[in-house]
Amino acid sequence: MTLRIAVGGFMHESHSFAPRPTRYMDFVLPGGFPRLTVGAGLFEAVAGTSVPIAGAVEVAQQAGVDLVPLAWCFANPAGPVQDEAFERISALIIAELSRALDAGPLDGIYLDLHGAAVADSFPDMEGELLRRVRAVVGDLPLTISLDPHCNLTPKMVALCDALVPFRTYPHVDMRAAGAQAMRLLLQRIVRGTPWARAFRQVDYWIALPMQCTMMSPMLEVMDERTRLAAGVAELAYCFGFPYADFWDCGVALAAYADTQAEADRAADALKAFIDAREATFQCAIKDAAESVAEAISLSHGARRPVVIADTQDNPGGGGHGDTTGLLAELIAQRAEGAVLALINDAESAAACHAAGVGATVALSLGGKSDGVPLAVTAEVLRLTNGEFVNTGPMGKGNPADLGPCALIAVGGVRVIVVSRKTQAYDQALFRHVGIEPAECRILVLKSSVHFRADFQPIAEAVLVAAAPGPVVADPATLPFQHLRPGLRRRPLDNVAR
Ligand SMILES: [Zn+2]
Repeated sequence: MTLRIAVGGFMHESHSFAPRPTRYMDFVLPGGFPRLTVGAGLFEAVAGTSVPIAGAVEVAQQAGVDLVPLAWCFANPAGPVQDEAFERISALIIAELSRALDAGPLDGIYLDLHGAAVADSFPDMEGELLRRVRAVVGDLPLTISLDPHCNLTPKMVALCDALVPFRTYPHVDMRAAGAQAMRLLLQRIVRGTPWARAFRQVDYWIALPMQCTMMSPMLEVMDERTRLAAGVAELAYCFGFPYADFWDCGVALAAYADTQAEADRAADALKAFIDAREATFQCAIKDAAESVAEAISLSHGARRPVVIADTQDNPGGGGHGDTTGLLAELIAQRAEGAVLALINDAESAAACHAAGVGATVALSLGGKSDGVPLAVTAEVLRLTNGEFVNTGPMGKGNPADLGPCALIAVGGVRVIVVSRKTQAYDQALFRHVGIEPAECRILVLKSSVHFRADFQPIAEAVLVAAAPGPVVADPATLPFQHLRPGLRRRPLDNVAR
């Protein structure tokens, strides 16, 4: 008998204090990811990309499943998803699901979700979406993949038969998570009954720079997760996205197993391992001036670029990608040969396109999101339409569409100016404006951790800098109002010791 499975997705990571809300159009034109797609066009839109649903589709096709496309979309992290966007997109998913049921019974559903979306009226946006899906399909087998930056909630765990987050940050295994969620869905259909499940929340937050799985202490935690996962159907470790102002924000984990005792044992063992390492998750980073000075010093005599991560304006964490703190320091300290990727400023990009290559333009560059632009006189070196295909380990095959772009020079510093934001995690962003990143002295990247997958291998050194921006390395400084009591916003915060 051929199985009939519906697939769809709705991905967003919402920062409650980011400068801009997330609108419907941000899902229609998402920058470096496939666009909002409904129905039959879904498979073509995601084919050859690194998104989770592409991996799920591959597994299902190999198993001879009759796949029914719902709707799929992604928008870059920013402020909460406006109600209009949530209502329209969830309506698209539900409408396609309803049509699918008109055509015949379904055996299961897979959804590609992020897990850290906050909608204006629904702080647990995925929980609400899953509630609506369940209201239509009842207890039909349903699995999801998640970004490990999800803020996992009891509702999400209760409403899914299994959930699978990526195991890496930088996320180089997005397709693998989608594939595993589909395998679990097929297993769930065959076994006929749900797994027992356990859900645990960790009481302290882990700052983004410390969540990188390429380094200690996350490296050891992931190894332990792999070891413990051998005895259960799934052991999901979610690092959390500590910028969402609601009750369930933070680190959490879920286990799925044949018996409640096995699920509880795996979840408790991993939580104990994470709890025991709280002190090692403390995070300290240097400010912009110190970081630029250190980069210049390190670059003398270096054969490879020194990389500075502008973590606090990470467009992948809700930053607008247009703050100028690091650029101002690069210019002030005469960081010759430095290239900054990127400044998201459609007005300045348009001014460069109007002026033409070779022209000198006066720009009020960046700062549209925080009111701190930088007045510069720049030479226009190159103009592009912002379309290219990513090549790095994380986004290989994903189309980028950043609108009109310009490479400009301000003194000895070059800047890639774009019209739609993307996180600077792929070398193709540089090559599309004619720069070979490995040949630069200093690369400044608007990214927190993802850049490490493609840039650490070519870097002399990596520095993480704290220039002003909304994706604060220390989220405890933000004015949260709705967190659950007892949650520590920094490791060991207010812990008697
Ligand atoms: Zn993520």
